[in-house]
Amino acid sequence: MSRYTRSLVWLRRDYRLSDHRALFEACAHSGEVIPVFVIDEVLLKGFKNIRQVQFIQECLDELDARLQERGSRLLVVRGNPAHAIPEVAAKLKAQAVFLNHDYEPMAKLRDAHVERELRKTGIAFHSFKDQVIFERREILSGGGSPYKVFTPYSRAWLKALESNRAEHLKEYRPDLKKLASKDLIRDRNARFSELGFEEPTRGVSVAGGSGKCGEEAARTLLKSFSKVIANYKTDRDFPSIEGTSRLSVHFRFGTLSPRQAVRYCAKHLSEGAKTWLNELIWREFYMMILDQYPHVEKGAFKPEYDSLKWEWNRAHFKAWCEGRTGYPIVDAAMRQLNETGWMHNRLRMIVAMFLTKDLLIHWQEGEKYFAEQLLDHELSANNGGWQWSASTGCDAQPYFRVMNPVSQSERFDPQGEFIKKWVPELKHLDAKRIHWPHDEDGLFSGGTRGYVDPLVDHKEQRLKAIKMFKS
Ligand SMILES: Cc1cc2nc3c(=O)[nH]c(=O)nc-3n(C[C@H](O)[C@H](O)[C@H](O)COP(=O)(O)OP(=O)(O)OC[C@H]3O[C@@H](n4cnc5c(N)ncnc54)[C@H](O)[C@@H]3O)c2cc1C
Repeated sequence: MSRYTRSLVWLRRDYRLSDHRALFEACAHSGEVIPVFVIDEVLLKGFKNIRQVQFIQECLDELDARLQERGSRLLVVRGNPAHAIPEVAAKLKAQAVFLNHDYEPMAKLRDAHVERELRKTGIAFHSFKDQVIFERREILSGGGSPYKVFTPYSRAWLKALESNRAEHLKEYRPDLKKLASKDLIRDRNARFSELGFEEPTRGVSVAGGSGKCGEEAARTLLKSFSKVIANYKTDRDFPSIEGTSRLSVHFRFGTLSPRQAVRYCAKHLSEGAKTWLNELIWREFYMMILDQYPHVEKGAFKPEYDSLKWEWNRAHFKAWCEGRTGYPIVDAAMRQLNETGWMHNRLRMIVAMFLTKDLLIHWQEGEKYFAEQLLDHELSANNGGWQWSASTGCDAQPYFRVMNPVSQSERFDPQGEFIKKWVPELKHLDAKRIHWPHDEDGLFSGGTRGYVDPLVDHKEQRLKAIKMFKS
């Protein structure tokens, strides 16, 4: 690679200074480096996930403050990156732009467009793998095609890691002395609020976790996870226990490097750490699926399931969104989501299966609702999770294995602690009654506090769902 007098590092979903591949490479190959972020007006048209916008704004503010402590700063501009990046590069006389790969279909198109525009003006474009350990076609089946099933993929992933651990888990420590002086960057920083988004109240956008955004917060959360990782294998399925890392939003926005997370697993030689590593591999599996089988963004992984005859009942969908289905575990989970932007993995599976197999509503409706509400919304994982639950995905739950929300509730919230927290109407019920507080006619019989009657009968709906898949 050439050496450049001045370069830009274009941040997109990697708001950190440590173990950052593009920043490392930019510093290694340039005299000085200017970090830049573009508030993408194209992408944000109609964007409804306010929590994510606020999280990003807080991360950018934090990053800018840390850069200012070092005598540099972050430049934030607004516009279409295809024009904004070449304009900034030209204005600041940068000879190259460094960035990390993105795997979402829209992002790939955007990056290709930016690359074309830069090349027209003779500015170099260098993109790197950063947000995963293995990307694109690095992990292939014996037949030379990308995997469609998780278990053999994860075996091949682990084998590839072991083949050169030092290289794959290398820490990319940028030479931060190369950061350009703030005097060079005179423009006022743009803010999301200029597009009508509300300014964040510090820490409010983070649901449940550390209460803070940014790299420091991710590190603190990872450190505190050390206390529970040994029990992860057993505790991770119980929503009333703080048994998981809560790091998903940090993986989503790159305030934590995946290499750091995998190196961390190696330090905790427990069954819990092994199970946690397996979840990190699931994350990469779904990213690879989205990258290699991009049709999943718009339809079923198995195209034959695109013609399934889902039902549409607006009132049922609204009740599901609002946590008023009459199934306590589903309602507790949905109310928590609405209030905090967070939902436990076990509950995501339960509510997704309930929407698709009990209410028979198209998985894409649920996927869209989650996309608007989840702070950690990640297209690949969300799509993968919904298609798994709806049985339309790769390596999905078979359509005839329908989760019973009541027995799931009895098993994973045995004392009803989680339900009591989010459905206070049922607070007075004991552990036996709380999972199904209705009488034989399906009417609420749990007292006078006014909980809703169940929308549907699970046994009947399960049969209908199986019939829909068979026909
Ligand atoms: C219907 C549905 C929708 C989902 N939507 C999202 C989403 O938008 N964003 C998201 O990050 N995860 C999503 N998941 C996966 C999972 O629920 C969350 O990653 C997890 O609950 C986050 O909590 P945690 O950080 O404490 O996870 P931990 O249990 O501590 O796991 C560590 C990390 O591994 C990754 N991970 C864990 N489980 C999965 C999984 N099943 N698929 C992919 N990656 C995983 C996440 O990055 C997570 O932070 C979804 C799952 C389902 C069933």
